[in-house]
Amino acid sequence: MTTIGLVQGDITREAADAIVNAANSSLLGGGGVDGAIHRRGGPEILAECRALRASRYGRGLPTGQAVATTAGKLPARWVIHTVGPVWSSGEDRSGLLASCYRESLRVADELGARSVAFPAISTGVYGWPMDDGARIAVETVRAAETAVEEVRFVLFDTAAYEVFARRVEA
Ligand code: ADP
Repeated sequence: MTTIGLVQGDITREAADAIVNAANSSLLGGGGVDGAIHRRGGPEILAECRALRASRYGRGLPTGQAVATTAGKLPARWVIHTVGPVWSSGEDRSGLLASCYRESLRVADELGARSVAFPAISTGVYGWPMDDGARIAVETVRAAETAVEEVRFVLFDTAAYEVFARRVEA
């Protein structure tokens, strides 16, 4: 059984085996969670991301997939980078958002991670409505077959925390 916990705060301060990054497909940094992870985690993370771009992911990490690097100076062993879909009102991309959570947990299993901290993927710059993003996050983690014992959603502000809390209680 995977327990689901909620925390309000900055994901770069979370102690967990793995912290998930809401990355973009370049893997070379960006704003939001991505910017915060590289700022606080230091240059080792970016160095591994560049190496991934030079090898397995020459064209970038596809949307919905996940890959791990060191966590550098963060209080975690690994960062799992995943690329959320950009919200579209005309096209249902929820399968890709669910895939981010599922693939991140699959990578966590490969690593042997027991605790994983997730941000609310796609709900920032990528524009996904928070309530629907929370629904997909919680449903997908609940349905996942994983050896991860603890999933923690780390929400940046009170509003996001409350939306997730309603979904977890539902
Ligand atoms: P995306 O590009 O996938 O939308 P963002 O990083 O822009 O990713 O935002 C994802 C979510 O993470 C948003 O809800 C945003 O408010 C939140 N967020 C931004 N910075 C942090 C942080 N340091 N810790 C936790 N959550 C954060």
